[in-house]
Amino acid sequence: MIIVVCIKQVPDTNNVRINPETKTLIREGVESIINPFDCYALEEGVRLKERLGGKVIVLTMGPPQAESALREAISLGADEAVLLSDRAFAGSDTLATSYALAQAIRKLGHVDLIICGKQAIDGDTAQVGPGIAVHLGLPQITYVRKIEAIENGIIRAERLNEEGYDVLEVSLPAMLTVVKEINQPRIASLKGKMAAKKAVVLTWKAADVGVDPALVGLEGSPTLVVEIFTPPPRKGGKMITGEPADIAGEAIRDMRAMGIV
Ligand SMILES: Cc1cc2nc3c(=O)[nH]c(=O)nc-3n(C[C@H](O)[C@H](O)[C@H](O)COP(=O)(O)OP(=O)(O)OC[C@H]3O[C@@H](n4cnc5c(N)ncnc54)[C@H](O)[C@@H]3O)c2cc1C
Repeated sequence: MIIVVCIKQVPDTNNVRINPETKTLIREGVESIINPFDCYALEEGVRLKERLGGKVIVLTMGPPQAESALREAISLGADEAVLLSDRAFAGSDTLATSYALAQAIRKLGHVDLIICGKQAIDGDTAQVGPGIAVHLGLPQITYVRKIEAIENGIIRAERLNEEGYDVLEVSLPAMLTVVKEINQPRIASLKGKMAAKKAVVLTWKAADVGVDPALVGLEGSPTLVVEIFTPPPRKGGKMITGEPADIAGEAIRDMRAMGIV
């Protein structure tokens, strides 16, 4: 099986700061990590490879320093790594990002499965995985918590929903996004760390993957960030104690006073 795992390098959440004027993340001096959901995507890809054979290719679109995320992925079991990096991508929104990633996947040739994380902890949109699937015309299952089976060109997976889970089947090639319930990612072995040091990371520019420059970057991005701000902290609530009937009565009185009921 040829499995592509898309990973994004993100700022460590504890340190996220926003430039109030440009409304973009301040990345300078902030430690970067692999988006945590992508570690589950990678682990699942590596487990499938170990069970069924084949290889795992990790792919990221980002600045040159995102290469370190790819090397870390190799230390965790990926076989090959591709960095999609070009100034032309600066300012790309999720539509442009998923288009560029889809073009890179096309260039890889035959691929059976693409695995993404549920969402990135910085952008948080959960749009890139589904966007890749649409650009490539592939079926998709999002929020996968378990892959039940892969046989006869069909993948069956459990998709987390608010009440429980659905069991869905789609034909391969397909795109999955995964949630953290799917597995417990491994830690890098010494052998993995050695492999990561020696690995050759392919670097592709926009022209290498046939990206139309008009469809990426700020100009090619239809999304406009109008405002970005930290919501004000919630005001403290009121605790009502006593007998249930008294609690209900007081709660209703309060809600009437506030004009809620
Ligand atoms: C107008 C606008 C301008 C922007 N300009 C910039 C900019 O200049 N620089 C910048 O860094 N960001 C920029 N962004 C943010 C950028 O578009 C998103 O970070 C990116 O598209 C991913 O979206 P997300 O973080 O919501 O990921 P999600 O959709 O939440 O991610 C889901 C999954 O998709 C995969 N994935 C997501 N992003 C990547 C990636 N880059 N490579 C590989 N896999 C990925 C991962 O598996 C991830 O778990 C901009 C956004 C907007 C709206």
